[in-house]
Amino acid sequence: MKPYSIVIHGGAGTLVKGLMTTELETKYKAALERALEAGYIVLKNKGSALDAVEISVKLLEDTPLFNAGRGAVFTAEGTHEMDAAIMDGSNLKAGAVSLVTGIKNPISLARDVMQKSYHVFLAGEGAMEFAKGNGYSIESPDYFYDEVRYQQWQGIKDSTTFQLDHSVKKDGKFGTVGAVACDANGNVAAATSTGGMTNKKWGRVGDSPMIGAGTYANNATCAISCTGSGEYFIRGVVAYDVSCLMEYKGMTLQEAASEVIHHRILKIGGDGGLIAVDAMGNIAMPFNTEGMYRGYKTSKGNGEIAIYKD
Ligand code: ASP
Repeated sequence: MKPYSIVIHGGAGTLVKGLMTTELETKYKAALERALEAGYIVLKNKGSALDAVEISVKLLEDTPLFNAGRGAVFTAEGTHEMDAAIMDGSNLKAGAVSLVTGIKNPISLARDVMQKSYHVFLAGEGAMEFAKGNGYSIESPDYFYDEVRYQQWQGIKDSTTFQLDHSVKKDGKFGTVGAVACDANGNVAAATSTGGMTNKKWGRVGDSPMIGAGTYANNATCAISCTGSGEYFIRGVVAYDVSCLMEYKGMTLQEAASEVIHHRILKIGGDGGLIAVDAMGNIAMPFNTEGMYRGYKTSKGNGEIAIYKD
């Protein structure tokens, strides 16, 4: 049996120590721990990396604490439009959805696109039609209502501003969510899910559902899930860039991930971070912001849940 490991994130941004109550911090850590453990158990029971990342992301989507699924931010129209992607590094198969509404777990819909359609990426009305055809129930807007996110939106709704929900310097809720894993067979997978940016309009789509930008997995190199200002991550083709630096330049996972987050993306002004694993179970979690909700656990007995830079 090869070493296995899982890493999760709940968004990177202006997370400064002291700006959050101890109570809220405890809640975030407990939610991260639950999601991490669920994925880890799949790996421990010799399950696939793909199953592990899906279950972890589903649990993060189910808590209103993070900007995905239930906690998705408000768009300029006061709705919730969600994006998600999943990729299997063992065969380079991928599935993604964008601009979906009323879907409890967009990550499972993305997986169904990968496994039950001939396509990789479905968006908007078409994606909703596919969801209905595959038995998804459509939740009412109440399911996604959250007072904190509503107030975030109220603050900027009459402006042309759109913002990363992680970058509000006050007690609040942060975060696109993601998971990457390497299983005992040396297969890797990545999953990312988000509500995007508060007050977004015109069908804005971020990096999260874009294969190669916010999400990528390839057994030959690594599995990556990103978080941050999506526009920069799209332009930097961040997830694939990490993979390319490993494949073409022979960098290690740590070197490649750090090069992209601390140099390449910063050069174009991008703020955020990523989580990564390779097929040997090595992990990396670089970010160039004050903090990133994150956690990891490996079969070698290492693990951590953390928020700030420290
Ligand atoms: N990357 C996401 C987006 O731009 C936002 C995030 O990471 O929270 O949609």
